[in-house]
Amino acid sequence: HVLLGSTRYPFSVQGGYAAAQQGRLWRSHYPALLGLLLVLGAAAALACRWQIRRASSPRAELRRALEADEFLPYFQPVVRQGDYRWAGAEVLMRWNHPQEGLVRPDLFIPYAEHSGQIVDMTRALMMHTAQSLAPYAGLLEDGFHIGINITADHCRDLSLLDDCRTFLQHFPHGRVVLTLELTERKLIEPTPVTLELFEKLHAMGVMIALDDFGTGQSSLNYLRQFKVDYLKIDQSFVALIGADALSVHILESVIELSAKLGLGIVAEGVETAAQRDYLARHDVDFQQGYLFAKPMPAAQFLEALAARPGATQLPQRTPPEIMRG
Ligand code: C2E
Ligand code: CA
Ligand code: CA
Repeated sequence: HVLLGSTRYPFSVQGGYAAAQQGRLWRSHYPALLGLLLVLGAAAALACRWQIRRASSPRAELRRALEADEFLPYFQPVVRQGDYRWAGAEVLMRWNHPQEGLVRPDLFIPYAEHSGQIVDMTRALMMHTAQSLAPYAGLLEDGFHIGINITADHCRDLSLLDDCRTFLQHFPHGRVVLTLELTERKLIEPTPVTLELFEKLHAMGVMIALDDFGTGQSSLNYLRQFKVDYLKIDQSFVALIGADALSVHILESVIELSAKLGLGIVAEGVETAAQRDYLARHDVDFQQGYLFAKPMPAAQFLEALAARPGATQLPQRTPPEIMRG
């Protein structure tokens, strides 16, 4: 409603509609336009809401990271009893996040396991590992163990067989022994499919290690059902070496048990020379821990392998290319 008065003449002009009439006019003259505006507004609001939710959901973020190839293998050597030479390495996942930098696995693996995305992520990690190591397979001694962590989700069907086969095809026969590390975080049911999977993995020469041994309740059941080849003693037990007598008894019983069952033992989280010497005195086959080496990227791992006394020199490629690989 507009009212314009003149300063020079005694006139004023009044225009517009009465208060309630405007809405009535819109409704009678532009019903289609009004409806369209409402629909477009609602659609835009829904689209914004969907985008915002999508961008912030952890599932979508993991999928994006997988497509962008942000999950990298880090390698932590496992040394053998006696000469402490590298007998293998465990592959540990790291997330090379564009904003956050390098993210530790305990911050995202539990969610990846919960959402079932861990299977695709592990497949990508195995491909990455094979492609990083295969050109330098000459640096690995025959039977070099590569440990990959798997979870209960991998045991629901037989697709892990193909993943393992593809991995091993990258290397000359017998060069690499693939060891799957199984944790007890999510219970693995001994279904016919799972038992068939483990049978076929064994037939392919793939080894099974029981990870974090002693921390779950199902360890002994697992040993019976899945024909385990190695036990990995959890680092919480290794940390007890030198502590009270009771803890040391537990550790010694685990070592004794695995010897009786004919299983290999790997002790994890070895940080001190005292722990190393204690484990050596008790004939533990393999050790892994910061005392020997921390997990490292592929380039550093290959360079360390090449620098070992007796190692053949780095073949085929020069170090800057390794950095990219
Ligand atoms: P884990 O399989 O028990 O791996 C050993 C963890 O102990 C690694 O932590 C390693 O860096 C750490 N560690 C090794 N030596 C020492 C030591 O001397 N002292 C101490 N304090 N720690 C040591 P990381 O890399 O942070 O991995 C944590 C866990 O995340 C792993 O525990 C494993 O359960 C899980 N994880 C890592 N990568 C993968 C993966 O590719 N798939 C799945 N499913 N889980 C993974
Ligand atoms: Ca492990
Ligand atoms: Ca472990």
